[in-house]
Amino acid sequence: MKNIPFSVPSEKIIKARIRQLTFGSRPRCPRCQRVSTVRRSENRYRCSSCRRPFSLTSASWLTGMKLSWPTLWRLLWCFCHKYQPQQAAWQARVSLKTARDWYGRFRRNLPQRTGKLDFLTCADEAYFGKRKSGNQRIVAGVIELPGKEVRLRVVPNVSQDILEGFLVKHVERDSMIYTDSHKSYQSIEWLGFAHDTDNHEQNQLKKTVPIERVWSFAKWHMRRMYHHVWAKNLPEFLCEIEWRFSQSEIFKNPLTFLTETLMPVPSR
Ligand SMILES: [Zn+2]
Repeated sequence: MKNIPFSVPSEKIIKARIRQLTFGSRPRCPRCQRVSTVRRSENRYRCSSCRRPFSLTSASWLTGMKLSWPTLWRLLWCFCHKYQPQQAAWQARVSLKTARDWYGRFRRNLPQRTGKLDFLTCADEAYFGKRKSGNQRIVAGVIELPGKEVRLRVVPNVSQDILEGFLVKHVERDSMIYTDSHKSYQSIEWLGFAHDTDNHEQNQLKKTVPIERVWSFAKWHMRRMYHHVWAKNLPEFLCEIEWRFSQSEIFKNPLTFLTETLMPVPSR
């Protein structure tokens, strides 16, 4: 297997970047947010106001990290570039379990994309996972047109109440929603949406093509990167898909990912 095609920055450089993202110009106590801190070693600090020790990782989702910084960098690079966990484990010289655990952590710490979709949208539902293994779940999705902003949620069923609730939560009133002719969408005009349908059975796929494209991207990504995803991990996988589909720039490198996901310690 080839090594990843870039050089890993030194531990010192990575830490300097993380320090900058987490604290800005000066280390800040995560508890009382004061800058009056004493550095005890390269990673450890003590707040001189509240006397509490803290570290470079204790204020963020990196807390408790036992990996070296270059190892984290390698795992994250592999995740960003859609390497399978096995390949990441090999690249970072860690166990498969460690690679999988960290992939989970990367996904879970992507912020939820927020804001309602507007104007012109396209909605549909899809099945993920195999029914035989009891791992099948239904996902409701909506995409804004033209554009790439999507919202994907696991739903318990495709009843009218559930799908209408999903649309009300994620789409602005007065927007146009294209759907197929599923009966659960039949009354959405009553909720204040404009509505137009395609009939899949008559091979009219024109209006719902954008959301079909999201489904094929999500399923392709699932097969290629994870082979399969357990139902309990599906919500975090869908969050990853939202980001990969809507704002894939954050996966350019570990730094762009960390910039989006590490919350700076607020200033007082
Ligand atoms: Zn403090």
